[in-house]
Amino acid sequence: MISLENIHKTYRIGRERKVHALKGISETIHAGEFVAVVGPSGSGKSTFLAIAGLLERPTEGTVRFDGKDVTGLSDKERTRIRAEQCGFVFQFPSLIPTLNTLENVLLPKTLCRTYKKSDEEWGRNLLARVGLDDKLDNLPYQLSGGEQRRVALARALINKPDVIFADEPTGAVDEYNAIIIIELFKEWNAQGRTVIMVTHDMKLAAEAGRIIQLEQGRLKISI
Ligand code: ADP
Ligand code: ADP
Repeated sequence: MISLENIHKTYRIGRERKVHALKGISETIHAGEFVAVVGPSGSGKSTFLAIAGLLERPTEGTVRFDGKDVTGLSDKERTRIRAEQCGFVFQFPSLIPTLNTLENVLLPKTLCRTYKKSDEEWGRNLLARVGLDDKLDNLPYQLSGGEQRRVALARALINKPDVIFADEPTGAVDEYNAIIIIELFKEWNAQGRTVIMVTHDMKLAAEAGRIIQLEQGRLKISI
């Protein structure tokens, strides 16, 4: 599904300083896997996820998506792959404050201009699955933090992505919400879809089928 070949990522800070966030990572994530990416803060987990999810480009190395080299594709082509096949869940839900729950979830469809009446039914379905069917008309400020995170989760699934990329999806949510999030990932994965989740929570990582551990930008273990 996604393979990273000898990936390096160097960030420039100002004119003098460089940070080597990833230092030669090679790893393949197969279709249908549920992988947790763990490691200490600053070890390169978010950078790994952003490169695998085509949000960032490596400084060096090759990224393959469905067997195809996507490293050198244009931004437009990379955006299309993300829109059609990828779903993203971040720690901050970034909902549009003037749209209600259902409208926020349907936003990726509205933006793609592929909106159909049946999308609304699927959106309602997803919101029921995360326990928000009675909050469809609420604006984000009328939702709790955990509820906002669940709206963002439903939004990430609206396009039925082949791969979910999640960066600390349960960071700063209570246990109740964390369980809803992880159970939905497991259910999605059981349908044959791929999940790649960054977390510093080892208990959560244990729910995944495989663990990739990073340390100072290098692969420490992959089990
Ligand atoms: P250290 O972790 O010892 O400080 P560095 O971060 O400087 O080492 O780099 C570790 C290794 O990775 C070095 O061999 C360096 O040349 C290589 N490396 C790091 N970033 C890149 C890059 N963007 N392109 C090529 N090689 C890199
Ligand atoms: P983790 O997710 O494991 O905390 P990150 O991938 O966020 O690690 O960061 C790895 C390293 O790269 C850190 O030293 C971080 O400060 C640096 N870094 C990450 N993103 C940027 C950026 N956009 N600009 C400069 N440095 C960055």
